[in-house]
Amino acid sequence: MTRDLLIRGGTVVDPAHGRDGAFDVLLRDGRVEAVDAPLPADGALVFDAGGLLVFPGFIDLHVHLREPGREDAETIASGAAAAAAGGFTAVCAMPNTDPVNDNRTVTAFVAARGAEAGTARVYPVGAVTRGRRGEELAEFGEMRSAGAVALSDDGDWVRDGDLLRRALEHAGLFAMPVVQHAEDPSLSRGAPMHEGAVSTRLGLAGQPAVGEAAAVARDLLIARLCRGRLHFGHVSTALSVSSIREAKERGLSVTAEATPHHLLLTDEEVAQSGYSTRFKMNPPLREAADVRALVEGVIDGTIDAIATDHAPHHEDDKAVEFEAAPFGVVGLETAAAVVYDRLVSSGSLPLRRFVELFSTGPAKAFGLPGGTLAAGSPADVTLFDPRHRWTIEPAKFSTLGRSTPFAGWSVVGAPAATIVGGRIVWRRT
Ligand SMILES: [Zn+2]
Repeated sequence: MTRDLLIRGGTVVDPAHGRDGAFDVLLRDGRVEAVDAPLPADGALVFDAGGLLVFPGFIDLHVHLREPGREDAETIASGAAAAAAGGFTAVCAMPNTDPVNDNRTVTAFVAARGAEAGTARVYPVGAVTRGRRGEELAEFGEMRSAGAVALSDDGDWVRDGDLLRRALEHAGLFAMPVVQHAEDPSLSRGAPMHEGAVSTRLGLAGQPAVGEAAAVARDLLIARLCRGRLHFGHVSTALSVSSIREAKERGLSVTAEATPHHLLLTDEEVAQSGYSTRFKMNPPLREAADVRALVEGVIDGTIDAIATDHAPHHEDDKAVEFEAAPFGVVGLETAAAVVYDRLVSSGSLPLRRFVELFSTGPAKAFGLPGGTLAAGSPADVTLFDPRHRWTIEPAKFSTLGRSTPFAGWSVVGAPAATIVGGRIVWRRT
């Protein structure tokens, strides 16, 4: 039995439980025992949270941990450590590993490696189709029983409409959402950046916004036909946001996430950085109007979660020409800080909504434990220092990846400590 932990003197913001104010939080046997003001220590270990914000643990619905297969780029242990250092108490690991997580053995391996790491919780996401080949459905039930929480062919769109329909119906039986990487490859054609004025100026091929939006629109029509929950990964265009908003108004069981880079950056960065591969990811950075629509979407609830799409690559792989470089940037250790600094501190995003996007919303979207500090909930807590001023230096990251569009940014606000199951798994030193 671990000792009780009393988080004392912080400001609790727990939208799901309607709490916002000065409360102490007592954690016992892996659960939240009480939230009240003040609580006696009674032999508990006391964590002084004076000046800190106390949130239900942050959950990242979309990370690539690269193990098994590319342990030179990231391991489950290094990725989970990066998650904890970014204030995340849980992450969902995408199945595009080698071998692909499309069966019980790989799902169980990812879950076990995550548990061994003993930092942030690692929830495996299973593939929708065998080998992510888009031909036949994988064994959902097997993966569910081995610990999978959702299904995705992320990296690729489930292009066959009938297959997506059957996936949604079948996933419904196991209470799992299907997570779509919405990209019609016949439109995007693997182009290295967004198609628009900037790509024209630079003479680079671009992915039009409709490459994503057309896929979103088709998927929503299929979701209307059948049971099952549909979730969109990394939504990046204004067109997608309006389709999803309309679908929600119709009562469809659909959720969506957006990344910090799509909420804060545009395709101009590709030009201004001189084609730095730190700005190459998929979906690509879009235009100012898309950024505005995404921010509106996170404010009004069209977007349910902020997810990082943390996608580490070995430095050598990113140290090539823009067009040749792989898509993907790291995000776990910067997400909460950059969103807090640029959207919450600026007054665009209410603090309560920030907590919903990082905790309550993702928990609900995938039906995960947590998302609240109500008594009886998992003792997963994110402590955040809203006044800590720091500069983002990738060399100091816990992730093995170094490629981030936020390198060198000066921000105010940072995770202060991460508590999982009542244990402090990371603390800023
Ligand atoms: Zn994706």
